[in-house]
Amino acid sequence: MRVDELGELSDEVIEIAYKITKEGLGPICDNCLGRQFAKISSGLSNDKRGKILKEVLRTKGMEIEEGKCWVCNSLFANLEQWVTKALERLNDYEFDSFLVGTKVSGMLLENEEQIWEIAGATYAEPLKAELNREVGKRIEVRTGKRADFEMPEVVVILNLWTEKVELQVNPVFIYGRYRKFKRGIPQTRWFCRECHGRGCEKCKFTGKMYAESVEELISDSVLTEFKGDDMVLHGCGREDIDVRMLGSGRPFVVEIKAPRRRKVDLRMLEEKVKEENKGKVEITSLQYVKREMIAKIKNAEAAKTYKLDVELKSKVAEEDLQDALDKLIGAVIEQRTPTRVVHRRADLVRKRKIYNARLVSFNSEEQITVLEIKCDGGLYIKELISGDGGRTKPSLSELLGTEAEAKELDVVDVELK
Ligand SMILES: [Zn+2]
Ligand SMILES: [Zn+2]
Repeated sequence: MRVDELGELSDEVIEIAYKITKEGLGPICDNCLGRQFAKISSGLSNDKRGKILKEVLRTKGMEIEEGKCWVCNSLFANLEQWVTKALERLNDYEFDSFLVGTKVSGMLLENEEQIWEIAGATYAEPLKAELNREVGKRIEVRTGKRADFEMPEVVVILNLWTEKVELQVNPVFIYGRYRKFKRGIPQTRWFCRECHGRGCEKCKFTGKMYAESVEELISDSVLTEFKGDDMVLHGCGREDIDVRMLGSGRPFVVEIKAPRRRKVDLRMLEEKVKEENKGKVEITSLQYVKREMIAKIKNAEAAKTYKLDVELKSKVAEEDLQDALDKLIGAVIEQRTPTRVVHRRADLVRKRKIYNARLVSFNSEEQITVLEIKCDGGLYIKELISGDGGRTKPSLSELLGTEAEAKELDVVDVELK
């Protein structure tokens, strides 16, 4: 071995190494010695560099004792232990990419500060950077999976305080569309207003306002397949509880937390959800996406098409109804926050456009008419019919000169713009 393998600055490096071995608190391992010069590029690993340095010092007549390293407590001599612990934890999880991180204990941090006081930290690499890299390399070799510094599926955390390996398993995200065929089901879990989920008499100790939700109906199958801890549904807007969601369905992203499986056949999952929720909920168009998709669908501008049964309080001729609908097409509706939601939403005036309004069927005897209306998302459709005491203008009621009320409502399309 030759001194020039140490790269440039070899005189300075040898001088610092001399100080470390002379003034240090005991034996130091090759890794810890070599790591103090990691930023000097020489193409050597830390332990190789440390080994060469020790030989150079010995040829200069210095005595160097080997033994338990005072800097790392011989952590690097026992790397395999950490690799084994990590592999044991990872065994339960399907993953293609991972990253290793370390929570360094206070004692090792202190040791590191002490050696930097002697050697200076100019060329040094932190202990945890080397530990992460070395354990990571071994996991790569043993599992054939790759370390990913941008978006690892699993983060392996070496906790030097507890001597345990922790896993941070990143979620799986799936985009899709749901259809809801039954009224009375909210989109997501809705905690009881009285007890906030703890369970009380009012909610029959379920902790919930409603027995089931689209989120919960889907989550059974999803969590079984992905073997995840929990699932959250992020919807592109939401329909009222008493409104069905038909047609092509509403876009959503589900976030599956701590999944043990990440590669599930999504067509099979669609079938399974359909099978287990006969007549209630279906999901389609499933595809794997990245986290960013949540913000995308949450902020997306969408046009919605509703089909609704409207009750007219007095007789109206079909031509007048047709005229009123024609006037709505292209109209911009000025809508103050509806009376029914103003207690929980800011009271302001929204402007929303109507793209289409058509008569599906008309029964002059029963005064029930079926309409289809396409409008900007965020328009309160029930108030477009009733007028909400003049808070929504124009409204069907105002245009017809008679009271009108939406009885049953379905969303038949959500079109992302
Ligand atoms: Zn060491
Ligand atoms: Zn309750």
